[in-house]
Amino acid sequence: MERLQKVIARAGIASRRKAEQLILQGKVKVNGKVVTELGVKVSPRDKVEVDGIPVEKEEPVYYLFYKPRGVISSVKDDKGRKVVTDFFKDVDKRIYPIGRLDYDTSGILLLTNDGDFANLLMHPRYEIEKVYIAKVKKIPTFKQLKQLEKGIMLEDGMTAPAKVKMLSHNKQKQTAIIEIRIHEGRNRQVRRMFEAIGCNVMKLKRERYAFLDLKGLNPGEYRELTPHEVKQLR
Ligand code: URA
Repeated sequence: MERLQKVIARAGIASRRKAEQLILQGKVKVNGKVVTELGVKVSPRDKVEVDGIPVEKEEPVYYLFYKPRGVISSVKDDKGRKVVTDFFKDVDKRIYPIGRLDYDTSGILLLTNDGDFANLLMHPRYEIEKVYIAKVKKIPTFKQLKQLEKGIMLEDGMTAPAKVKMLSHNKQKQTAIIEIRIHEGRNRQVRRMFEAIGCNVMKLKRERYAFLDLKGLNPGEYRELTPHEVKQLR
């Protein structure tokens, strides 16, 4: 959400102060209704008109980002911590992440300024497969891994079926590397699933999102999605 005068100013129609005057003069409509107050905030989905002419929406952009650990999946942080958009300083569009990864989780994260696209991908019915690699403390038993696959009870209900594979383990250190594929996207879901079987997640990385992976990118780097990839995701 952003202040109406800022949206008008960014579209190059008027300076911010002039935009405020236009609003006070009753020349600005939001979703067909005249707005004369200055505090109103609008989202990218609201239709803004000045003198009956629609304010152009930004050209949609889509990015695939390799989020490093220690970064917030947000565009702003009250505590001054690093946020994902700090890595997009040369992008002048209002992009934001599609969903989120925990502060300590690394891996694939999409960003866009296309609200419809973001809503579509985040909708639970869309069931996008995400593949995570977790390093956990305590080697889970075969039975516990099966439990994760079938579904496990968390505070917010049973998890949907998952695919789980132990890639390696270290008996001496009592650690294991496990690949887990899930379709849901609940808050801290993978960490909570492992906690439920008594394993502490030491490291977590999202390796795949649908058919997309991190090939060619280092942590902190991004690339644009190709038009074909965007189409495939829709
Ligand atoms: N599951 C988690 O626990 N953390 C993430 O960042 C993503 C999925």
